[in-house]
Amino acid sequence: MSNYLFDPPAVVSVPVEGAAAGFPVRRILCVGRNYQAHRREMGSDDRDPSFFFTKPADAIVQPGSDVAYPPRTDNLHHEIELVVALKTGGSNIPVDKALDLILGYAVGVDMTRRDLQNAAKAKGQPWDSSKAFDASAPISEIKPWNGPAPQGRITLSVNGVVRQDATLADMIWNVAEIISEASMLWTLAPGDLIYTGTPEGVGPLVRGDRVDGAVEGVGKLAFTVI
Ligand code: MN
Repeated sequence: MSNYLFDPPAVVSVPVEGAAAGFPVRRILCVGRNYQAHRREMGSDDRDPSFFFTKPADAIVQPGSDVAYPPRTDNLHHEIELVVALKTGGSNIPVDKALDLILGYAVGVDMTRRDLQNAAKAKGQPWDSSKAFDASAPISEIKPWNGPAPQGRITLSVNGVVRQDATLADMIWNVAEIISEASMLWTLAPGDLIYTGTPEGVGPLVRGDRVDGAVEGVGKLAFTVI
């Protein structure tokens, strides 16, 4: 059908460095517990397989925009993450072909209502309200990228104080493995974003906090919580 009862939602797009056209976001996959020290701070020290959760495309916060403190939480956490942007898709992608799907990388923050997440974990309930809420996915512009995945530092500071400082080389599942595994679970497509997990040092944000995130070689992101 080409006519609708009301206007369909606008396509969410993320700017791409050096490009006149934006990256249209299809959906957002996120990897949980992908750095060993963060697994420990979340109370887990085993080597479980990777796992994923999702956010809707309209959870994206555009580069340079402030982030409204969400309702129904008293413990909003930051999680700085490397984000992968896909230009092609497919299913059952072998690890040695996985990097071919990548358009580029961005810096993202997986905003988390930690209190609701902890309650959901305790009751075996889903994470949607703790992870997939409005404005839960701030992102930088996308940097086009060819070749080996970035391996440098990933950092986040709040009001100028460093909270998260790690290296991408410490990821338990690397970018190629993440894409391959995701493609076993879903048919990936152009426009998919993958938030690849956060290192240790997650913590609470309050209104007025200034957040600065960076991934070496990829870019920077900054926002104020309002
Ligand atoms: Mn995360």
